[in-house]
Amino acid sequence: MIPTVEYLEERFDSFNASCFEGALPRIPIKLSRARTFVGRLQYKPVRNWRGKVVGGENFVIRISTKFDLPEAETEDTLIHEMIHYWIVLNGLQDSSTHGRIFRAKMKEINELHGRHLTISHRSTPEELDHDTRVRDHYFCVSKLADGRTAITVAARTRIRSIQRQFRWSPTVRSTAWYHSRDPWFNRFPRCRSPKLFPVDPAALQPHLEGAETLA
Ligand SMILES: [Zn+2]
Repeated sequence: MIPTVEYLEERFDSFNASCFEGALPRIPIKLSRARTFVGRLQYKPVRNWRGKVVGGENFVIRISTKFDLPEAETEDTLIHEMIHYWIVLNGLQDSSTHGRIFRAKMKEINELHGRHLTISHRSTPEELDHDTRVRDHYFCVSKLADGRTAITVAARTRIRSIQRQFRWSPTVRSTAWYHSRDPWFNRFPRCRSPKLFPVDPAALQPHLEGAETLA
């Protein structure tokens, strides 16, 4: 997905409440066209009389719109930057950029909230396109009630149960199942539960042409 500012602000508020006990004041979130980073926190360090950094001001989170990542990765990127913000805001002295405090908070969020945060941002389009392993993919393309298209790459043994849950979901209007060995689908996580990853239909279309429809 390519995020918008409104989307990121809404996610910020939601993760602030669920992962940071609502302790993070809102800061500007801006979109960037950079290819060199997926997300970045910028701020002016505040120092004490000894020159030690004890806080920050003029915080801005920048998220690049150059990468069409799965929604979960966009969210993870935002949370990653929020951890940096939380550390600076509280004047915590970490052992390095992604030091002990960063990793402890990251681990806590991953365990409590089932996220997949990493210290490096996982994938840029180059990395996604580099994953060229040929594997079988069983996936569902859904039309959602809000008009978006979403994809779910399913573990083979979970196809039936996922389809059953989609049938009762108010979010999902229609579904179509496919099989493909196109490595393009490697970029999506293999789901055991009915997760929906919104995709750009135009980006998906060429990869559907080589796919076989599942009855
Ligand atoms: Zn970082």
